[in-house]
Amino acid sequence: MPLDLVLRQGRLADEEGLVDIGIAGERIAEIAPAIVADALEEKLDGRLVTAGLVETHIHLDKSHILERCDCGKGTLAEAIAAVATAKRAFTAADIHARGRRTLEQAIIQGTTRMRTHVEVDPRVGLKGFEAMRRLKRDYAWAIDLELCVFPQEGLINDPGAEELLVEACEQGADLIGGCPYTDTDPDAQIARIFAIARRFDLDIDFHLDFDLDPSWMHLDEVCRQTDAQRWGGRVAVGHVTKLSAIDHSRLATISRLLADTGIAVTVLPSTDLFLMGRDQAHHAPRGVAPAHRLTAQGVTCSLATNNVLNPFTPFGDCSLIRMANLYANIAQLAGAADLRTCFDLVTTSAARLMNAADYGIAVRHPADIVVLDSRDPASAVAELAPPLFGWKRGRRSFTRAAAVLHHPTVA
Ligand SMILES: [Zn+2]
Repeated sequence: MPLDLVLRQGRLADEEGLVDIGIAGERIAEIAPAIVADALEEKLDGRLVTAGLVETHIHLDKSHILERCDCGKGTLAEAIAAVATAKRAFTAADIHARGRRTLEQAIIQGTTRMRTHVEVDPRVGLKGFEAMRRLKRDYAWAIDLELCVFPQEGLINDPGAEELLVEACEQGADLIGGCPYTDTDPDAQIARIFAIARRFDLDIDFHLDFDLDPSWMHLDEVCRQTDAQRWGGRVAVGHVTKLSAIDHSRLATISRLLADTGIAVTVLPSTDLFLMGRDQAHHAPRGVAPAHRLTAQGVTCSLATNNVLNPFTPFGDCSLIRMANLYANIAQLAGAADLRTCFDLVTTSAARLMNAADYGIAVRHPADIVVLDSRDPASAVAELAPPLFGWKRGRRSFTRAAAVLHHPTVA
């Protein structure tokens, strides 16, 4: 098959030396030290090449609403209440416009795959879901967007919510999520979410154990149900900040259980840092689950953005490289191997969490390629390497202008 494009002399994360990558149509057709072809060329000058950053957990529907919310405490309860109030004024056009702004920012930050959590309940109805379906269709040229519908304000305590979730699943939601900590009957919610997942054959992604009291965990029930329903490999949990409040021995036990059961973990450093430990007047804990330790025990993990400019996280630029750097900083990681793990948590490991079998720079895979201004993954995390340009299925999807330094002219 003739090549349409050859990317010259890029550096793959796992290989010594530089390679050329040949693209035919939407796929990678050849990877070799020197490809001979009559095709368009792009020089990569030894820069690091990835299949793109992978965002496993972000709320596009409630991004960019900070100015509408009057928050002073910075607690989880306040954030949920403020967004619940703001949500009543959401329209599909408003959700679409804000979601689009966030999604475009993520694309420019080198993200090529994304799972977004979409709130569905009797107040907002399916407005968010409909807006996200449009975004998924409109931006398929740049990013694969998965829609995970979930009830942020409870399920058992919220009559009508389950019917709407089922309706969204009937209309093509990609997976289903849960949020047991806001439910009056958390175990019953977990059971209902598994029942819907079974009915529609969907993977599950829970918001879970979002506090620092390790004396009890909803994770136990999720493990039990995952095992009972034989849903291993199809369940992810986000936050699990309780795991930051236990010692290494208990963490090792839970890690083995998660790895054996097939439950993946997404850690959300920015949100978890911002919301946890608010009851401490000083010496506040970090409240971020140790993704690198879980990874070392065989748990599939990712680092993700969660929220952008809303009461849950009043910051954000959709940069997953920044999130990996933030995590490395707060987890006190420095060596090349640990920084490499952080890179994997926003690329290969994140793709594994999403069960994305065709992710990676490999022959016959989609030509999803992002070039970072770096020589290796550890340096990319340590130095916050900017993504410079990328392709989605063989088509150029973004370019970031390189910074220029204007030295004074020497006479
Ligand atoms: Zn979330």
